[in-house]
Amino acid sequence: QPNRRIPMVAGNWKMNFDHIEATAFVQKFAWNLKDCHFDYRKCEVALFPSFTSLRSVQVLVQADRLKINYGAQSVSVTSQGAFTGDVSADMIAALGCKYVIVGHSERRKYHPEDDANIVDQVRAVLADGMQPILCVGESYEERRQGIELDFAVGQVHDVTRDLSDEEAARMIVAYEPVWAIGTGMVATPQSAQDAAHAIRDDLTATFGPEVGEKVRILYGGSVTSKNAVELIGEPDVDGFLIGGAALDVNELTR
Ligand code: PGA
Repeated sequence: QPNRRIPMVAGNWKMNFDHIEATAFVQKFAWNLKDCHFDYRKCEVALFPSFTSLRSVQVLVQADRLKINYGAQSVSVTSQGAFTGDVSADMIAALGCKYVIVGHSERRKYHPEDDANIVDQVRAVLADGMQPILCVGESYEERRQGIELDFAVGQVHDVTRDLSDEEAARMIVAYEPVWAIGTGMVATPQSAQDAAHAIRDDLTATFGPEVGEKVRILYGGSVTSKNAVELIGEPDVDGFLIGGAALDVNELTR
């Protein structure tokens, strides 16, 4: 059965590129896409710049009608008020963002982002008509214990279980084993598939087959142009969340 979900390639720039570098990247990226080996017309591309670069990316994408989506790397759980340093979902949506990454392992590690906070971020993103990319995945310790599938499924389940079917259908999940992020150690296609499949099974059990079939599940963790080809061959892997390799415009369009 053909995969009816549109594949997605998402570049998470993390804390890299000021707005001038971001502008140069998007221009080169758009140029490279013209004769890119990968068929970007059949998949969705999204970039995740810093908050300070979002406006520059928006201006460029809109002016040239580029087929590039973009989004933010995190969001405040409150909508406005005395929260110094925070950025609300309204502000992000006002810049034309389609997606927001939620619960990335680096956010969970360096900021007080627990499941309750992540649920609130998901709700804030959905309420503004955007789609959350919910990041989950086990650490090395959980993998060593052999509980990686339960762990990742549990993370998705705990964050999504109180959503409506309509809200759940707009979720995107990124399975990113923590031990694979930025380490050069990529999950095997089989273990990426096993995790994506287990997550999809759980979504199907909670929300029904229509939602289960609709939600895109990305793999993230040391993805490169070399290992991407095999990973995307797996039936439940619908694309990638890419960190390091997304900083190299030639690598991203190879
Ligand atoms: P990486 O990062 O591709 O550099 O491993 C992935 C991520 O953190 O989203």
